Amino acid sequence: MTAYQYWNPGMETMIRSELEAFQLEKLKWAVKNALRTPFYAKRLKEAGVDSPDVIKTLDDLRRIPFTTKHDLRDGFPYGFLSVPKDEIVRLHASSGTTGAPTTIYFNKEDIARWTTFVARSIYATGCNKTDVFQNMITYGLFTGGLGFHAGGEEVGMLVIPSGPGNTARQFRFMRDFGTTVLHATPSFLLHVESKMREEGVKRESLKLRKAFAGAEPYSEDTRKRIEELLKIDVYNSYGLSEMNGPGVAFECQCKNGVHLWEDGYIGEIINPDTLEPVKEGETGELTLTCLCREATPILRYRTRDLSSFYNEPCACGRTHRRLRRITGRTDDMLIINGVNLFPSQIEEVIMSMKEVGNNYLIVVEKDGALDRLTVRIEVSSAVFTDDARLLNVVKEKIRKTLQASITINPKVELHEHGSLPVSEGKAKRVQDNRPKDV
Ligand code: ADP
Ligand code: ZN
Repeated sequence: MTAYQYWNPGMETMIRSELEAFQLEKLKWAVKNALRTPFYAKRLKEAGVDSPDVIKTLDDLRRIPFTTKHDLRDGFPYGFLSVPKDEIVRLHASSGTTGAPTTIYFNKEDIARWTTFVARSIYATGCNKTDVFQNMITYGLFTGGLGFHAGGEEVGMLVIPSGPGNTARQFRFMRDFGTTVLHATPSFLLHVESKMREEGVKRESLKLRKAFAGAEPYSEDTRKRIEELLKIDVYNSYGLSEMNGPGVAFECQCKNGVHLWEDGYIGEIINPDTLEPVKEGETGELTLTCLCREATPILRYRTRDLSSFYNEPCACGRTHRRLRRITGRTDDMLIINGVNLFPSQIEEVIMSMKEVGNNYLIVVEKDGALDRLTVRIEVSSAVFTDDARLLNVVKEKIRKTLQASITINPKVELHEHGSLPVSEGKAKRVQDNRPKDV
């Protein structure tokens, strides 16, 4: 039986009624901070929330209007700042996957609070101060680098700020310093594994035991694949810069959904069309209210990430609710000849097939009036031989399996191992070459 360890046992296992009372106090604090920002001073007053006292129960959260990425961009640079400029000590920006980046400011206490949530997350996976943590994610404005770095130090691990890229150097660090824990995007972890094989790095020469994988959607089969290939225990890490970065929701050792740290964030799942809450357990858009940052308060932020809450409590004893694996963003959805398709549906199918290698790319083009979907897939060298007949058999098998699942007939192209582009940060899985409507 696993002996679960808690960074902050009182908070992590607090009974729901107490946790909700805590949230209510923090929500009032967040509203008070928000009313000091130019954006919310106007937005909240228009909605009749002109004082934190209007918030009497957690249900009153629904009196607060939603905040969108668009609002954050409009508020650039200081529309969301609630403290004097000389009190802020750091800024971060989102990676700008879907447009212009947005900027978040932190004061010293904000950084300390954020760090505690990351430390709690890391500790929940069974890591401790004896671990050596190689943080293979981008440092800089992206929150993953510095966020995990600080959390790792807080736990007392030795943190190697390696950043991504240069796998030969990564392997050297792993060997020289006896790395036990990795953090990277799932796509980069798969790339590391491919390179390990290519460069003949012996797994037995490394002490790796765990990895945190996040920043982009990935399927359960991808997790299993990384775990089997790298012989490592992989934990899902969810966060976004608008809510500080990593440490928003994280898997515990039960590895069955990410615990949303509800003393730091209030999560709601809404129907993105009607903006009403979905029924318990249903999938919808995750909306988050930050309860732990003073300098840039953000309330009811529409993440565009699709997820749902588990109803059952977790075996680890934590009372903070778990979210299901995020399948993608509302704006990731492709419409192919009228059929809706999320890239994650393709990943779910192909990553469970043993013939498929570690990388793939989805290409959408116009073919006359119709849309054409091509899935480029790397296959292992065992499959990628001169035997055209074997290649065709594999191609047909993948095509048929995909078609059965997504109801679209894709073109499948097989590519040699290591030939598709690899991103050091978030993987770019979709190339939509169709002309944009104007
Ligand atoms: P950007 O919105 O520019 O990508 P961020 O760097 O803040 O900015 O990325 C946050 C987003 O990354 C999330 O909103 C989500 O879409 C995605 N993401 C982060 N972690 C995960 C995860 N574990 N699973 C799926 N998606 C994730
Ligand atoms: Zn748990």
